[in-house]
Amino acid sequence: MDKVYLDNAATTPLAEEVIDAMVGTMKMNFGNPSSTHSFGQEAKILIENVRRQVADYLHVSPAEIIFTSCGTESNNMIIKSSVEHLGVERIISSPLEHKCVSESILDMKSRKGVEVNYIRPNEKGDIDLAKLEELLKASDKKTLVSLMHANNEIGNIINLKQVAQLCKEHHALFHSDTVQTMAHMNLDFSDIPVDFASCSAHKFHGPKGAGFAFIRKATGLKGIITGGPQERSLRAGTENVCGIVGLGKALELSLNHMEDYTHHMQDIKDYAIERLSAEIEGIKFNGRSAEKENSLYTVLSALLPYKNPLIGLQLDMKGIAISQGSACSSGASKPSMVMMMVLSEDEMDHCTPLRISFSHMTTKAEIDTLVNALKEISSDYTIEKTNVEHR
Ligand code: PLP
Repeated sequence: MDKVYLDNAATTPLAEEVIDAMVGTMKMNFGNPSSTHSFGQEAKILIENVRRQVADYLHVSPAEIIFTSCGTESNNMIIKSSVEHLGVERIISSPLEHKCVSESILDMKSRKGVEVNYIRPNEKGDIDLAKLEELLKASDKKTLVSLMHANNEIGNIINLKQVAQLCKEHHALFHSDTVQTMAHMNLDFSDIPVDFASCSAHKFHGPKGAGFAFIRKATGLKGIITGGPQERSLRAGTENVCGIVGLGKALELSLNHMEDYTHHMQDIKDYAIERLSAEIEGIKFNGRSAEKENSLYTVLSALLPYKNPLIGLQLDMKGIAISQGSACSSGASKPSMVMMMVLSEDEMDHCTPLRISFSHMTTKAEIDTLVNALKEISSDYTIEKTNVEHR
């Protein structure tokens, strides 16, 4: 059975070129980058080349790129250090954030007494910027705004520049979790006054265990992992040299092919929307997922008009990997906060969300396989023509 992988928002397969670059580094460049001899210095040069490459991509200074182990670490570092070292007393965020952001914020609330204000999104998953401005004006406390660039479950994209400018006008620091957009879009941080951002290499065909934090120098953010002076003392610990090389190679491939990849994935997403709408009676799409504007081309969030908490397992048994988005009110998984925000209570009780996410390797034949499998599964259900209200 040929397997079909449609869970690229969770992670992507490694590109062959990335594997080759990493294996070459593992074989040839085992030196510790902090060592002053040639073995160390050769490894150090590899890291600094990737740092420069990332900085060029974002139009920032290499000193503003700090390599970490993943998106989770980058987001933890930014949020916790903003409170511990920059005197942030209030955080404005939203219930749509990834757990590594929301849990870091809750940790700062419980351990450091930080005030937290949430902006509740509307039923499409949009964040109201007028509400953000109102909150920014409402307090003189030193504030960090943390809003993700693109949502990993529904794919909604915020206007990063507009949010960053608003935060700047009101003297608030701005952090954006850019894990789903780094290397998928052109980002110019010389034009967008964001203070902090995050990246994870495994979201764009790079390795797991490698990421970076963008830290605007003027903020003076400090690290939270202490030890040696690696990463300009912002992140102690011997660097993951082959992981960083893999990140660099994956970024290079993404940037070289960005136009083709974007076009291909948008085409695949359009095809998936068209086929699913035609073949699965009553299917709907969540958030801004089915729209071209303000929606990430890698993610399609669908809603099946019947309750089937086992659908992920059933598809897996047919060789198809998707993520469920888990809005189930029964079964093993808890409802996802994002689904709770964009679905009505009726939908939460009677429907099944599916997150289908693409890469440049996804084919239309794979979408056909998914559609056929869903048709087969759906035929076991009578679609009750109840008036399940779609938000
Ligand atoms: N932020 C978002 C939006 C994500 O989608 C993910 C991964 O799923 C993360 C952060 C965490 O990244 P990592 O897996 O590198 O820890």
